[in-house]
Amino acid sequence: MTIRIPFNKPWLNGKELYYIATVIQAGHASGDGIYTRKCHALLEQALGVPKVLLTTSCTDALEMAALLLDIQPGNEVIVPSFTFVSTANAFVLRGARPVFADIRPDTLNLDETQLERLITPRTKAIVPVHYGGVGCEMDAIMDVAGRSGVAVIEDNAHGLFGTYRGRYLGTFGCLATQSFHETKNFTCGEGGALLINDPQYVERAEILREKGTNRSRFFRGQVDKYTWVDLGSSFLPSDILAAFLYAQLEAREQIQAMRRRVWDYYAVHLAEWAAERGVQLPTVPGCCEQPYHMFYLLLPSHAQRQALIAHLKAHGMLSVFHYLPLHLSDMGRRFGGQAGDCPVTEDVSDRLVRLPFYNELSEAEQAEVVAAIRGCRDI
Ligand SMILES: *Cc1c(COP(=O)(O)O)cnc(C)c1O
Repeated sequence: MTIRIPFNKPWLNGKELYYIATVIQAGHASGDGIYTRKCHALLEQALGVPKVLLTTSCTDALEMAALLLDIQPGNEVIVPSFTFVSTANAFVLRGARPVFADIRPDTLNLDETQLERLITPRTKAIVPVHYGGVGCEMDAIMDVAGRSGVAVIEDNAHGLFGTYRGRYLGTFGCLATQSFHETKNFTCGEGGALLINDPQYVERAEILREKGTNRSRFFRGQVDKYTWVDLGSSFLPSDILAAFLYAQLEAREQIQAMRRRVWDYYAVHLAEWAAERGVQLPTVPGCCEQPYHMFYLLLPSHAQRQALIAHLKAHGMLSVFHYLPLHLSDMGRRFGGQAGDCPVTEDVSDRLVRLPFYNELSEAEQAEVVAAIRGCRDI
């Protein structure tokens, strides 16, 4: 069976190639060019963040965060088990031990009520992930982190332009990270950003991102030669990618409107079916505005989830499961992870399915997906 309705389809607003051509014709395609600066300014202004730095990925932004916090062997970093590998791996690379927290059964976000129990004198950071762009309980997380002297780094890969109590996600932690991977709301293929909310990290972040040199200060005329001053790597993307991304960010309102339409269609047309069958739809608390990153179903059992994925595939539609619990991965087990440590994560991971979701998914296609779901006899 050929797939007629894919899971994801990148969308272009039409200006991407034009902006990319401008960069190539100008002859300066290395990092921190005109479009990188435009992306920085747009994101800083739109979000009210003091400093934004584009990176080659969200993974790299997380690795920069780990370097900025001076994470050392022996430190512990609390991450949800239900997340992408990089949320934990960036800190493990610096020698930290990941401490896996379970998630809430409603939003599938880090369960803030577990933090008190997981924090030890070795804890350096908490990394909440705003799953699906729905905000974590940031009031409680910031409160417990503040009382314990632990840093908060938001992995906001899903949540650009989402809000919690009227404030943008990515503006709560001292640092936050974004992803512009092809599967995210705004993309340049591969890309990311570090949001720096605590200005004490700005100067060192520029140095880490530029191979450990003070090149950024040199370009601004603040020093008369540039040299090796700290650790670092090459975390900055080519201006070609920034040009691609800028076109996407300029179209943010249009993109959000398209995604909202897709999300609302599923929510409206699956509500009754889900209620009758004990299927859980995404929960969005009243204090959160979501950026419509994904739509998922939580089926009553693993067998039903597998059956639905197979059934949709047989009808030419691709749906996918999501994160496998990190504490039960090969790496997670090396840090002592065991079955039963994070029961909600283990349960949800078995039963969750993400439906086809992309900007241009039409109502007719969505109607087909919904009809196929209703026609699945195993549920
Ligand atoms: C996609 C994703 C990442 C990694 O993003 P890259 O830009 O591919 O490095 C990290 N964390 C979460 C929660 C993600 O969904």
